[in-house]
Amino acid sequence: LPDEFKRALPVINQLEQAGFEAYFVGGCVRDAILGLPIHDVDIATSAFPAEIKAVFDRTIDVGIEHGTVLVLTEDESYEITTFRTESTYQDYRRPDHVDFVRSLEEDLKRRDFTINALALAHDGTVIDLFDGLTDLENRCLRAVGQAQDRFKEDALRMMRGLRFVSQLDFQLEEKTKQAITAHAHLLAKISVERICIEFEKLLIGKNRSQALLLFVETTCFKYCPQLAQYQAQLLAFANNNRNEVADMTVAWALLLAQLGFSSKQVKPFLKAWKTSNQLCLDVQLLLQMLTIRQQRVFEALDLYHLNTAIVPKLSQLCLLYQLPETAEVLLQRYQALPIHQLKDLAINGHDLMTAFQRKGGSWLKQVLTLCEQAVLNGEIANEKTVLLAYAKEQMNCEKID
Ligand code: ATP
Ligand code: MG
Repeated sequence: LPDEFKRALPVINQLEQAGFEAYFVGGCVRDAILGLPIHDVDIATSAFPAEIKAVFDRTIDVGIEHGTVLVLTEDESYEITTFRTESTYQDYRRPDHVDFVRSLEEDLKRRDFTINALALAHDGTVIDLFDGLTDLENRCLRAVGQAQDRFKEDALRMMRGLRFVSQLDFQLEEKTKQAITAHAHLLAKISVERICIEFEKLLIGKNRSQALLLFVETTCFKYCPQLAQYQAQLLAFANNNRNEVADMTVAWALLLAQLGFSSKQVKPFLKAWKTSNQLCLDVQLLLQMLTIRQQRVFEALDLYHLNTAIVPKLSQLCLLYQLPETAEVLLQRYQALPIHQLKDLAINGHDLMTAFQRKGGSWLKQVLTLCEQAVLNGEIANEKTVLLAYAKEQMNCEKID
């Protein structure tokens, strides 16, 4: 057993001593067998939620209606979920009602893919009712039971499937693929937020390329926001660009660059995907910078729009386009800029109004922008007297309102 499981064994043991069954289940078992890092150790048990809470001193109700209780140990916390079936699926979405059951088999049956339907007992025995171990061995992603039914029950599973193909670099089993193709339209019933979570994992997965091909082939792309018109571009992206991208922001920027988006088109696109404002701003900036870099090398004025967090992302994006911009050099150049924001300028609007005895107005912004540019370009020093002299000069010769 991997250490993560060993550390959790007391939790399993306590449930068993109280007369219940308890197993490690789902993604953690799959990842452990694949030798991948384990992020969450999930436990399934025959104990009902009230019974779980009676066994442990410290618990938190995180999803009691779904049978999930968080158990706190000395230095860890574990999600413990009662064995359950999901009987009533309304609208092709995850069920709003679950039934707690005492049988592990029932619980494993309702899971999406065979490789996610493995359970691991305290002694290291794997319970494998659907040949998940063989599929893990063959790197094959197969729905549990009748694929057709499973995607009808919960259409999100189709996007999860494509995400696992990318993340694990697995092949999609033929019947499972056919069933996804037949039911892709049901994705329209699923919330954008939930589709987005899976799509983002697909974009940062090991085999994004293959997953994107299947995304197009199964027609899932037609039922995702803003992508229906981009079949050819998605295929070209899948076929021409196989580099793994670990960063989500870079992954979105690469997708949009490959689809031929300008930075102006980013906002409506990502709004439709309901991503955060921060992501939207970052992707916009990355596309702007990429477009510039494809025409010429960066100048100080370009770098001024960056921030330290985006520098490594920009570097990654440039390198994906064979544009040599290492994060180190880019960061050095960014940090060496004489100013990083308008308020770093040695004069402000107030200084200008006093010096020129004029009221505020649009001239202030214009003059400050000229000063900002001159300082960034290294034409003048960022010193008050120098800046005021420069401002005076500009006010005389430029058309300042
Ligand atoms: P990850 O490594 O991304 O967490 P995971 O397989 O653990 O992958 P989770 O969303 O954490 O994915 O779900 C845990 C387990 O719950 C899955 O392994 C699977 O057995 C089951 N599961 C999750 N979502 C579904 C679903 N929509 N339909 C059926 N089973 C599901
Ligand atoms: Mg998980």
